[in-house]
Amino acid sequence: MILVTGGAGYIGSHCVMALLEKGYEVVVFDNLSTGHIETVERLKQYGKVEFVQGDLLNKQDLDKVFEKHQIDAVIHFAAVALVGESVENPQKYYVNNVCGTINLLGKMLENNVKKIVFSSTAATYGEPNYIPIDENHPQNPINPYGMSKLMIEKIMDDYSKAYDLRSVRLRYFNVAGADSESRVGEWHDIETHLIPNVLKSTFVGGKQFKMFGDDYNTKDGTCVRDYVNVEDLAQAHLLALKYLDNGGETNYFNLGTKDGNSVKEVFEACEKVTGKDIPVEVAPRRAGDPASLVADNTKARQTLGWEPKRTLDDSIKSAYKWENVLQG
Ligand code: UDP
Repeated sequence: MILVTGGAGYIGSHCVMALLEKGYEVVVFDNLSTGHIETVERLKQYGKVEFVQGDLLNKQDLDKVFEKHQIDAVIHFAAVALVGESVENPQKYYVNNVCGTINLLGKMLENNVKKIVFSSTAATYGEPNYIPIDENHPQNPINPYGMSKLMIEKIMDDYSKAYDLRSVRLRYFNVAGADSESRVGEWHDIETHLIPNVLKSTFVGGKQFKMFGDDYNTKDGTCVRDYVNVEDLAQAHLLALKYLDNGGETNYFNLGTKDGNSVKEVFEACEKVTGKDIPVEVAPRRAGDPASLVADNTKARQTLGWEPKRTLDDSIKSAYKWENVLQG
């Protein structure tokens, strides 16, 4: 069985779906602080999913998982993940992300589970020195969220050396889209991300979309990001599991497409996909946003055999379909 922490959340649920499609049995462990029980119920329709509601900070909750199930490997998504909040409340980020992961790793060691795939982030790189960013780029996070993920990466290196607990850390760029059959999708009670915010603004009662800054030193003045489709991203986790199963050593990979799109380009693509003329207000820059973040994904392609297949338009289309489900 594969233990998926945070499996009721956005990326976690798409990964569980991909695992189920390959016939894996899955235990979802989630405290439902941002994930949804309805997502777990949906997942259960597509394969063998056990759900344990619990918190990584509570070791007894973790014991429930490891005592009851024979875990072969862990995919670890559970985390708090809002950059702005992490600046205001770093304690929440270091305790949940770092202490939570240490508890998880401790339980893995106690139970002789030696493989983990971990959700890391491009935010571990900080302000880029060069673009596209490869894995050798220095890691100097500029916010507590990125720092908490980098600390975990370092801890995982030490555990790999000392205990042979092998890890694959996947450094996500901007994850976008939803399941192409709308079985699961992005569902945050407080939505901060670009594509869902543009799409939500087209529904009755939606807030007007605000574009944060148009005076960056980029092709059109708006921030450039690398939008990787969530189903493509989920496939990378399966490949990372396979890599560890085949004896692969501790490693880390960027997951992005190598293409940068500006906020304006994404906005225009949303107008095209929805067929709507979407109102926009240019607002001040959002604190902590680097001008450009684009991945060099050569390493993931070569070592894992990963191939991102879906385009930005595909992501916007599936996100829009899902948004229609959410809006009922
Ligand atoms: N953005 C925006 N309006 C929004 C949300 C995001 O202009 O309502 C911009 C944001 O400033 C950044 C880009 O869109 O330049 C991507 O932001 P998002 O929060 O989706 O991802 P991040 O890059 O922060 O991980």
